Amino acid sequence: MLGEVLEKFLNENLQSLRDQGLYNEIDTVEGANGPVIKIKGSELINLSSNNYLGLATHDELKRVAIDAIHEYGVGAGAVRTINGTLDLHLKLEEKLAEFKGTEAVISYQSGFNCNMAAISAVMDQHDAILSDQLNHASIIDGCRLSKAKILAYNHSDIEDLKRKAYDAVTSGKYNKIMVITDGVFSMDGDIAKLPQIVEVAKEFNLITYVDDAHGSGVTGMGKGTVKHFGLEREVDLQIGTLSKAVGVVGGYVAGKQNLIDWLKVRSRPFLFSTALTPADVAATTAAVQLISDSADLVEQLWRNGNYLKLGLKKLGFNIGISETPITPCIIGEEKLTQQFSKRLIEEGVYAKSIVFPTVPKGTGRVRNMPTATHTKVMLDAALSIYEKVGKELEVI
Ligand SMILES: *Cc1c(COP(=O)(O)O)cnc(C)c1O
Repeated sequence: MLGEVLEKFLNENLQSLRDQGLYNEIDTVEGANGPVIKIKGSELINLSSNNYLGLATHDELKRVAIDAIHEYGVGAGAVRTINGTLDLHLKLEEKLAEFKGTEAVISYQSGFNCNMAAISAVMDQHDAILSDQLNHASIIDGCRLSKAKILAYNHSDIEDLKRKAYDAVTSGKYNKIMVITDGVFSMDGDIAKLPQIVEVAKEFNLITYVDDAHGSGVTGMGKGTVKHFGLEREVDLQIGTLSKAVGVVGGYVAGKQNLIDWLKVRSRPFLFSTALTPADVAATTAAVQLISDSADLVEQLWRNGNYLKLGLKKLGFNIGISETPITPCIIGEEKLTQQFSKRLIEEGVYAKSIVFPTVPKGTGRVRNMPTATHTKVMLDAALSIYEKVGKELEVI
């Protein structure tokens, strides 16, 4: 019967996930995504957003977005190459290139799309990609789409990277070889060892690609992880998102002019998907301007991050190897981790558990993402709830 095959597939697989407790029920946020959010009528201190600088609800950006709607309407009207390139898009790209210190930038509808776009436009089945084992899902999908041979190296293990680069080069099987890494890893909050990665890249003539979704607006005074290490001239492709610290939606690739020229004629999400809306682009441009004009928000983010980190550490929690505002509280066992997060939420802190298979077995964690707009009162309240739940569940 029509539909029967799909029905069987869905029923079996959904049931199996539910039986294992792996079916994720999504909470609805009732209102804006700020430092305090409302879920099922309760006000919770929000430590789960990527809205690092609080720009998602910034008054000036809201005003700019509304003005853009009045002037340009709500949609771009077409893909960029047909007639969807508005002067607003070019202004954003110029602003981003200036901000990143690269020759040019191309914007996309999301950070996810950047990886779909750029990896497969540059790499093909005759190539190989050295990819950090903990790289983001969109990098993995972008690599698969390119049909290049994927060579995963152990997380931030430079010796392993070197060995695999040597093997790939000496095999003589590949035309081009790329090394690709997250700038900031989202599960532990650690920063990629870019200076060493760049050295390996120089030794073996690798193309270098850094996806800095969690670094843009956060590291390098907001300019990202490549800037943090002063490696602007050494990294061929820098990916940034406009959806996390920048607070709106979208993504971009920054690099040399000829790279951007190539992506404009060969990257499929650019060629076959409608451009970002005028409101998004205008708000994003204003956000980037705001971050370049003043370091206040970025500095406040780091102060809040360090304050929360120190507080959790003093209470006796294991915060792992974090070097950024992303602060995991490593609980360990999966069930206990989920119980811990559930109790935090009941007590008024919205911090979600992340367990196997997203992170290795036995390293379940509750991840905290403080923002620049959390007040000291909010952070202190969160810490005392952590203390209460930690003692109750005998984690500290
Ligand atoms: C979040 C993230 C993305 C996706 O960015 P969006 O703009 O939300 O699509 C891509 N890469 C990495 C490393 C990320 O952390």
